[in-house]
Amino acid sequence: MHQAGAHTIEYLGATFLKNDPDWGKNILYFGPMGCRTGFYVIIKTIFGAEEIRKLIEEMCEYILNFNGDIPSVTPKECGNFSSHNLELAKCYVNNYLSELRKEFHCEYPKSE
Ligand SMILES: [Zn+2]
Repeated sequence: MHQAGAHTIEYLGATFLKNDPDWGKNILYFGPMGCRTGFYVIIKTIFGAEEIRKLIEEMCEYILNFNGDIPSVTPKECGNFSSHNLELAKCYVNNYLSELRKEFHCEYPKSE
């Protein structure tokens, strides 16, 4: 992923997750992997894979339907505030969502 698209997913995803009335208090972190091939979400409490899949699907829909100013994008709040791309973020999320609806992995595969 290009940095600007990943940055926008990070901000919108974190906004959605932390404001969710049921999940918000349990979300510790949402952000991109250093390699920018995916994102980490760290959740305080143990939930089932299906509940997490549903939450991530709702987060994706939130990003796809988002219009307007991306939250917390000011020079005071982010040192790289000009690097955002909502269109690109939606493109990445749309691709991810179609894969998520086919299969969802919540654990690393066991090595044999
Ligand atoms: Zn930032």
